[in-house]
Amino acid sequence: MDFEISKEAEDLRLEIRSLVQNELIPNEKRIEETGKVAPDVIDKMKAMGLFGLTIPEQYGGLGLDCLTTALIIEELGWCHSVYRSLVTNNIGLGSQSIILSGSEEQKNYYLPKMASGEIISAFSLTEPHAGSDTSALKTTATKDGDFYVLNGIKHFVTNGSTADVITVMAVTNSEPGVRDRVSTFIIEKGTPGFKVSRIQETMGPRGYAPAELTFTDCRVPAKNRVGPEGQGLKLALKVLAHGRVLLAAAAVGLSQRLLNESVKYAKMREQFGKPISSFQGIQFMLADMDTKLSAARLLAYNSAWLVDRERCSRRQAGIAKLFSSEALGFIADSAVQIFGGMGYMRELPIERMYREARFYRIVEGTSEIQRTIIAKELLEEVAL
Ligand SMILES: Cc1cc2nc3c(=O)[nH]c(=O)nc-3n(C[C@H](O)[C@H](O)[C@H](O)COP(=O)(O)OP(=O)(O)OC[C@H]3O[C@@H](n4cnc5c(N)ncnc54)[C@H](O)[C@@H]3O)c2cc1C
Repeated sequence: MDFEISKEAEDLRLEIRSLVQNELIPNEKRIEETGKVAPDVIDKMKAMGLFGLTIPEQYGGLGLDCLTTALIIEELGWCHSVYRSLVTNNIGLGSQSIILSGSEEQKNYYLPKMASGEIISAFSLTEPHAGSDTSALKTTATKDGDFYVLNGIKHFVTNGSTADVITVMAVTNSEPGVRDRVSTFIIEKGTPGFKVSRIQETMGPRGYAPAELTFTDCRVPAKNRVGPEGQGLKLALKVLAHGRVLLAAAAVGLSQRLLNESVKYAKMREQFGKPISSFQGIQFMLADMDTKLSAARLLAYNSAWLVDRERCSRRQAGIAKLFSSEALGFIADSAVQIFGGMGYMRELPIERMYREARFYRIVEGTSEIQRTIIAKELLEEVAL
């Protein structure tokens, strides 16, 4: 294992750190007030190539490997999650299906626009009756000449209301007993029969509102299918495994910010005539936060390193996602405790980060589903 990165990648990381510290964090309050990232801030993110980190250079992206991308996502994890959700679909769930299985025409048309941030993408697998159980999808795509006709409802789609392009998983073969029954489609905003039926408010920060999408006899050209018919679920699971590694890196970034804020507050806040950092009860909390964070970081980096060598199993990605999101939950809860009443008040960002942290144990497969994946591969691997 070697987590060394090139000088070029390190320089980029430092540039992103400076953007996060000098532009993104200072503008967090603006997002909470307006529910949006200001266009001038988005322009700065575009100028740094953030929307195309993983998109191959031949399609206008930076073509970074997974470890370097993870280091940059860790930096972005420090700030309001709406910044991250804007970017991560274009470099992850929203683009990876096209990168992995798209036609040359799809790659040439969509990837450069995603890389520049000209278009925003989304990924739509989850349905009201199919959350953890992705085999229960009900949205159908019926072949009709050179088109597929989509019918069904999707929900919880991040960027669903703002995305220009959405990769949607739908059932192309409903015959009983067929295993490979799901295919992936690229749906563009404005396609007749496709509508954003509802914005779904969350306990998360402002500006982060997933959407419910409805497809009613929505005709999509057959050339918008990504990869072979029937391979959509396999492709989605591959894309999700990559996404989980980047989510683990983002959890590490948010955990680090919470820890840093907690250390600073503990050194500054005095009670009983002393800084609260002098109390062993507080020191032990900080030590546990630091220990879990260090382990989470190593798991995230190790998984990214394995992705770059095409050796990251779903179990490995699951371990990184499970541990880092559970560690973040612990760290966010400890941070609120260290801040005491101020941790609960809206005037400091700790309460917002605590709410943001809760998201990580649910999305892209809950902690229970990660455990199921890990246990399945473990049981298969270890013989009697
Ligand atoms: C803010 C947010 C953004 C999201 N963005 C997207 C997106 O962009 N695109 C997309 O497709 N989806 C998205 N999702 C969906 C997300 O991936 C699902 O919420 C998640 O996979 C869980 O599905 P569910 O909510 O239906 O929960 P359920 O599957 O109903 O699970 C409920 C509970 O049962 C547990 N459970 C289920 N099955 C098992 C089992 N076999 N063993 C043990 N426990 C089990 C779960 O762990 C959970 O605790 C988003 C969700 C949220 C909250």
